[in-house]
Amino acid sequence: MKVMSFEKLGLNAKTLQAIAEVGYETPTPIQAQAIPLLLEGRDVIALAQTGSGKTASFILPLLDLLTRGRAKARMPRSLIIEPTRELAAQVEQDFAVYGKHHNFTVALLIGGESFGDQEKKLAKGVDVLIVTPGRLLDMYDRGKILLNDVKMFVIDEADRMLDMGFIPDIERIASLLPPHQTALFSATMPPPIRRLTQQFLKNPEEITISSPTQTATNIEQYIVRGLEKDKRDLLRTLLEKQNLKQAIVFCNRKREVDVVFNFMRKHGFRTGALHGDLTQAMRNETLKAFKEGTIDLLIASDVAARGLDVEDLQAVINFHVPINSEDYIHRIGRTGRAGKLGKAFMFVSPHEEKHLQLIFKTLNKTIEEYHLSQPVTESLEKKAVQPKKSSSSAKHPASKAEARPLPMKPPSSTPEVGFGDDIPAFMRVK
Ligand code: AMP
Repeated sequence: MKVMSFEKLGLNAKTLQAIAEVGYETPTPIQAQAIPLLLEGRDVIALAQTGSGKTASFILPLLDLLTRGRAKARMPRSLIIEPTRELAAQVEQDFAVYGKHHNFTVALLIGGESFGDQEKKLAKGVDVLIVTPGRLLDMYDRGKILLNDVKMFVIDEADRMLDMGFIPDIERIASLLPPHQTALFSATMPPPIRRLTQQFLKNPEEITISSPTQTATNIEQYIVRGLEKDKRDLLRTLLEKQNLKQAIVFCNRKREVDVVFNFMRKHGFRTGALHGDLTQAMRNETLKAFKEGTIDLLIASDVAARGLDVEDLQAVINFHVPINSEDYIHRIGRTGRAGKLGKAFMFVSPHEEKHLQLIFKTLNKTIEEYHLSQPVTESLEKKAVQPKKSSSSAKHPASKAEARPLPMKPPSSTPEVGFGDDIPAFMRVK
């Protein structure tokens, strides 16, 4: 089979240099298909999951597009819309990597960060604006931003936006834009997203990368059966038995994230928590610590962990069976990235059986059971997550994150939605 090269895609020399420096040798299938179309100015619908290399597939052609023209004050030239703040921050980081030899200005407009700083950046003029929907509309309604110069609009993780109730926001944003090019990425194509594409995209080319019901073959998947009350001990035993260096542990609710976080911390594990009620600063600090390896366990909710890209993550542990079976695919997709091997475990209590059956149905297969008393696979070579003496980690920057008091419970009038302050339009109190 002929291997496609980045040079053949028609990208400019500065972009190719950055790609070479980051060490990518060949484009992933989504990149090979989407980049030439976007460079031609076509609208694109891409059915692709995180882990497919989709972020570069829109950033790289955008870099080319931006070389024509300059940014004016308060008028961004391109708009990338993401469902969560974490994902938006990650796209910003990717942009910095791929765009390092260009001189474009990027601003992040996300809930949970101060309006003042974001306004100042906007006032100077930005080439790329990366946003979550609620904050963009807030800024627009305050008259701090003009959308008449947007040439490219990227809607990322559209199906997730749908789950989070953001579609009316997206429709409003799309209707505020001048004629522009659109790229829409989604792991699945439920009818409301299909309608959105029919309403707003012009003669789009559709690319499908892999079926959303397929999980990557390089992820070993297991279920571990047990009672709900025993799961915390199961987690400790599993980490030790499987010799896991770093893992993300998914819980279904914020409350449960706090409980597991407290338990693991109490037992000396270097642990961080990630959910929608934590301030943006805390979330950023925890993510940074996890990526740098100063914490080993990240206890997270789905909303907060969507799209997280942690290099070389060995394992994902589902502390609960996700209620929405597509979340299972997204959760375990945090491991086994860029072709590496990963492991995914899921704790299943008797009352979660019915959700497990739904996952089997979505995957069209069952998942092997792992009995903690008998190891199934050889231990990974890397050192296991070991409980650390709290005194020894006290000097570490992450220990600040560990030692921080638990997030305050929101006041009872705050809806329990887990989006931080970036909540969908229909839930916002006017
Ligand atoms: P994404 O689907 O955008 O979340 O990307 C998944 C991962 O693949 C990220 O860690 C990227 O750095 C990596 N990646 C993206 N493109 C390539 C490529 N062409 N070759 C190798 N790794 C890549």
